[in-house]
Amino acid sequence: MTTPPVEITQVEALEILDSRGHPTLKVSLTEARGHQFHAAVPSGASTGGREARELRDGDPGRFGGRGVLQAAASVRGPIKDLTCGQPWHRLEDLDSALRALDGSPDLSRLGANAVLGVSTAMCRAFAQASSLELHDWIDQQRGGGRSQRLPVPHFNVVNGGAHAGNELAFQEFMVAPVGAPDLPSAVRAGAEIYHGLRKRLADAGQDTGLGDEGGFAPEISHPADVLELLTRAIDDAGYSVGRDGVMLALDPAANGFFEAGRYQVGDDSLTFTDLVELYAELTDRFPIWSIEDGCAEDDHEGWKLLTGRLGERIQLVADDIACTQAQIVRELASAGIGNAVLVKPNQVGTISETLETVEAAESLGYSLMVSHRSGDTMDDFVADLAVGIGCGALKSGAPARGERVAKYNRLLAIAAARPDMPYGLAPTASRT
Ligand code: PGA
Ligand code: ZN
Repeated sequence: MTTPPVEITQVEALEILDSRGHPTLKVSLTEARGHQFHAAVPSGASTGGREARELRDGDPGRFGGRGVLQAAASVRGPIKDLTCGQPWHRLEDLDSALRALDGSPDLSRLGANAVLGVSTAMCRAFAQASSLELHDWIDQQRGGGRSQRLPVPHFNVVNGGAHAGNELAFQEFMVAPVGAPDLPSAVRAGAEIYHGLRKRLADAGQDTGLGDEGGFAPEISHPADVLELLTRAIDDAGYSVGRDGVMLALDPAANGFFEAGRYQVGDDSLTFTDLVELYAELTDRFPIWSIEDGCAEDDHEGWKLLTGRLGERIQLVADDIACTQAQIVRELASAGIGNAVLVKPNQVGTISETLETVEAAESLGYSLMVSHRSGDTMDDFVADLAVGIGCGALKSGAPARGERVAKYNRLLAIAAARPDMPYGLAPTASRT
């Protein structure tokens, strides 16, 4: 798809802080007429083994080794030399030139953080050159008219695993207002449930401190107890639990509690068969519509059993095991693993490859959910991405904390500007 060419005259990078207080990159591009475009790069804590590699300085004297001055130097040096001085007609051309310049399979030489920052800011430059909203430009990249929609926000209201210091093995417990009439009502439901949950936790004498994604991090060790609490909080807030109201979604992020072939959940050491049985029981008892990373990325047998057991009924999202990479998604499809793919641009490193993964997943019948990272910034690119690809689901943490609500607030702005845009899960994602 051609868009008016973009000529970049200046490329800058700044080391800024992410929501966890770790350094990350902000990239700024200036184009020939003087417009500036920015992008800030997120960073995960529970990462998949095949993710593109962020470049971190490793200097223990700065930010415990997490500085990104070398990645900033990649942007100001070789990436700037590549990007300036010629008009760019297509994002793919820039992205593949960046990949060729890096030369490594995982973008570790220039840094996936450096490359993603430039690729993301360039999307904004292309959209502006075409006088399009970012989500419309993304849709146009996919051929145009491919049913954009406002996604169901998946609010991560209880945090565990690598995102909290509590006992909880499962990383994310999300409330998803799938039955809300529109996006603003869904955001309101998320916020009201969140506050109802705070009250329930406080009344029960629980800590109301927060995890990395803004959800509560109570000292509860069994997932069923959290789910019970969530269904009550939904009810307290005056919403119905289920398809017509609010459903639940989990990201156990099972890599985080998998060791020596077993899963440690609370006091129990489980085989993959036991764990799949636990998921089956939980989905029978609670209105769970989606489970992400139910098994560890190296546990393909567990994943296959899980997919066979629950794949007809609920969405099974591949995150750490897929790393937003088209080739891996094809491998998973031939192995019969999962039925949905999580979309995190920094797992693959460029936006055009992210869109390739989306195409591959769609052509294989996989659903999609777009995601932030646990270390994030005020950059709201993923909101436009979710709308532009029309996948029907976005997770961006709790309905609280600036970097989380930045994405939900962007959805609210798009909803206000486009009252005719549909809201809800993509029709293909409904399994129950
Ligand atoms: P991460 O967690 O950003 O820390 O990787 C998010 C997820 O696992 O989905
Ligand atoms: Zn995940």
